[in-house]
Amino acid sequence: MQKDMQSNLFDASAGGRIGVLPNNVLAKVNSSAIRAANRALVLRALFPRETKSRAEIARETGLTRVTTSEVVATLIEDGLVLETGVRDSGNRGKKGISLRIDPDSRHMVVIDLSQPDAIVGAVTNLIGQVVYRKEEPFRFDKSLETDTVVNMIEMLVDAATSPVLAVGIASPGVVSDSGVVIRSTSLGWSNVDIAHIVRQRFPVHVYVHNDANGAALAEEQFGGGGSDLIVIHVARGLGAGVMVNNQLVHGSNYSGGEIGHVVIRPDGKTCRCGKRGCLETCVSSSVIDQCMAEDPARRRDILHEAGVMMGNALSMPVGMLDIPRVVFYGPSSIVNDTFIGAVGATINDAVVTGFRTKVNVSISRLGDDIVVKGETAAILRNELGI
Ligand SMILES: [Zn+2]
Repeated sequence: MQKDMQSNLFDASAGGRIGVLPNNVLAKVNSSAIRAANRALVLRALFPRETKSRAEIARETGLTRVTTSEVVATLIEDGLVLETGVRDSGNRGKKGISLRIDPDSRHMVVIDLSQPDAIVGAVTNLIGQVVYRKEEPFRFDKSLETDTVVNMIEMLVDAATSPVLAVGIASPGVVSDSGVVIRSTSLGWSNVDIAHIVRQRFPVHVYVHNDANGAALAEEQFGGGGSDLIVIHVARGLGAGVMVNNQLVHGSNYSGGEIGHVVIRPDGKTCRCGKRGCLETCVSSSVIDQCMAEDPARRRDILHEAGVMMGNALSMPVGMLDIPRVVFYGPSSIVNDTFIGAVGATINDAVVTGFRTKVNVSISRLGDDIVVKGETAAILRNELGI
């Protein structure tokens, strides 16, 4: 079904089939959009490490053989795809030339501003590998100078050994879709148009995301996959990225996923935001660490209780949106089997019915580079349609 839709919409060689679209839609589907969409279909078929013949790609994408060959020719010319040898195409024993993505034909420069004590910069390649990494210690008790970010990008652009496809920046806090950091307490930023500042220095596209939104893109692209998922970052604050139908939920205030300051205990402790009993006052890493330090014998119970609270808070959005997968990342002293087990049991007790299956709650396997991989995924999505 999906393939047929893509074929009808985007296969320019499909002749009469495209004519069934209404005129107003046809007007929008101009030839360059068709070319970009066809390139994206072929790249997605090869992503990240697939080797396929032109015939196999045509079968998988629904594009005609002629269109597939034309698209592949432009991708080879641009250096994005390589011919790697002869293989059995699976089509009555015919041989085809294998194609694959050349991972280092383009590099991406990524900055992660969400770490607790350092600015992390990385050069990544087309399949999400980190080819160069740089950390600069930084104490987030003062405002971050934008020059610090620009200087690190300059160093990373120099370190890249291939043309830089784009720059990606992951920031804590609320980020607009045009790359303005509307508010970030930990960076001390308010309405900082970091995308514009960086673009003035480097002639490439600049993408800026909230770090947890980036992590959701990473899980979708490089982790366990899935078009509907919630990714939660447990840190000094709490962050979440929500993906529904393969799209990030930004919300009308760009605050989609901001669960930390939703009140769950109206009579609870005063939060740094001024309200009482926010989720963050109950299950942030600093609160849990403090509780465990005060009563080490109850470590396991404290983690279990925190997991139950988190599970209760998540049950409604998970149930309401029919989310099948929830992924956590954060310090391993907290985001461990005890915590995850309690979250999973609580959510499933709340939402499982006769007509919906168990929700998978897990720890991300992407490790410390989840946010870096997320910005890489964002660039791949926007620049190449992968
Ligand atoms: Zn709060």
